[in-house]
Amino acid sequence: MTYDLLIDGKLVSGDRTLDVVDPATGALFATCACASEAQVEQAVAAAAAAFPAWAATPVEDRSAIMVRIADVIEANLEALARLLTSEQGKPLADARAEVGGAAWFMRNYANARLPVEVREDSETRRVELHRVPLGVVAAIVPWNFPLLTGTNKLGAALITGNTVVLKPAPTTPLTTLLFGALVKDIIPAGVLNIVTDHNDLGHVLTAHPKVRKVTFTGSTATGTKVMASSAASLKRLTLELGGNDSAIVLDDCDPDVVAPKLFDAAFANNGQLCIAIKRLYVHDSQYDAMCDRLADIAKNRIVGPGLEQGTQLGPVQNRMQYDKVRALIDESRDEGLIIAGGDCPAGPGFFINPTIVRDIGDDARLVREEQFGPVLPVLRYDDVAGAIARANASEFGLGNSVWSNDAVRAQQVADQLDSGSVWINQHADFDPDIPFSGAKMSGVGTEMSELGLAEFTQAKIINRSKAVLA
Ligand code: NAD
Repeated sequence: MTYDLLIDGKLVSGDRTLDVVDPATGALFATCACASEAQVEQAVAAAAAAFPAWAATPVEDRSAIMVRIADVIEANLEALARLLTSEQGKPLADARAEVGGAAWFMRNYANARLPVEVREDSETRRVELHRVPLGVVAAIVPWNFPLLTGTNKLGAALITGNTVVLKPAPTTPLTTLLFGALVKDIIPAGVLNIVTDHNDLGHVLTAHPKVRKVTFTGSTATGTKVMASSAASLKRLTLELGGNDSAIVLDDCDPDVVAPKLFDAAFANNGQLCIAIKRLYVHDSQYDAMCDRLADIAKNRIVGPGLEQGTQLGPVQNRMQYDKVRALIDESRDEGLIIAGGDCPAGPGFFINPTIVRDIGDDARLVREEQFGPVLPVLRYDDVAGAIARANASEFGLGNSVWSNDAVRAQQVADQLDSGSVWINQHADFDPDIPFSGAKMSGVGTEMSELGLAEFTQAKIINRSKAVLA
């Protein structure tokens, strides 16, 4: 099997190659095409050349192509999911859900419209707001949900009439390259281009004068670089960045009922989810019971290769992240008490047993930083105002949640939490129709819903005077 770049409607081998490791074994799994800087230039040139015709294509025709893309994703769900598990590590059921989600998002965008808005139609004038496409969009994606994140950006760009250069992360390029091969004959040449790199060509896209918008998902550290390099050409930016989401559990909750939900929201995708619960605040009166329940669940989770039946948690996606999460766990041995996990299963691969740390202070790195892996600190509080202040004392502001049987109390807490999303009695509910954005250092702009779509367009006002030109 070869994995090629997609440039100007053709599958092309890279000027370089990229080795992809299976995180379940730690060993080389496949080699794929890797673009050179010249090939990234070709991809941008192809997207720029394809833009006028694509922008002029009636939205119903663009939509029909996107429905076919969704059909192709669904028809190839199993192959895409197996490849996704092999390169990303997630259990096969989760990979199937991601691929299914990619089709769902694409179909949803195919139905989305930004109609002309008549802002005023008076005796003197008619003012219309039109949403026109921007041009070439660079879509840059991390390694935790490669296909879903890529298609989320692609769908929004295509329905609004933009063309795209899509770049997956270097540790998870394969599913995106296979997707490109599957859809290349459906999409007009140049409208979608896919390039890969060794983590060394993102800046070529973000600095390129012909790229008019960057839609970026990744770490806050890289996001700030993207913003800086986009500045010279005043690109439009959507930055979906890191998070350190908290969950505050009020004292009326039953730990037996809530603990499994909290665990799932913290360990979804093995904790490698921007909106996973990363800090859990529990009232003093329930603290011991909640810690015990969470530890029981963690000890009973089946950790293993994603392709093995029964696996509930796969490996961490890559060596660098594995080393980072292990270091955070090691530091927390002195700062708190590890009551589940803290170790790695014997054998190869980047596996870490799900880890619960209790009695840890707010100053610990595990609490202050984004762990992005299978470890959760559980923090004790005695007054809700204090818990809210501690939850908000973070440079991040992606999501937070509050858990309570009392809707009024929960709403009062939600009102005070400082983040782009606040959930009540759930965490990380995510839908293409719901706006998603990060506050503070968690991002700039909005993705999804009509607010997100609008960010792929220029607002163009047509203001017609009704005065008669005699
Ligand atoms: P990363 O920032 O290291 O990489 C993301 C992408 O940026 C990759 O494709 C990478 O090759 C590319 N890149 C690297 N340097 C670049 C540069 N100078 N210019 C342009 N692009 C460059 O992030 P990661 O480690 O792959 O992903 C994990 C991070 O992503 C976490 O912080 C997580 O919270 C965040 N994330 C955020 C969201 C969200 O929606 N807010 C969603 C998923 C992940």
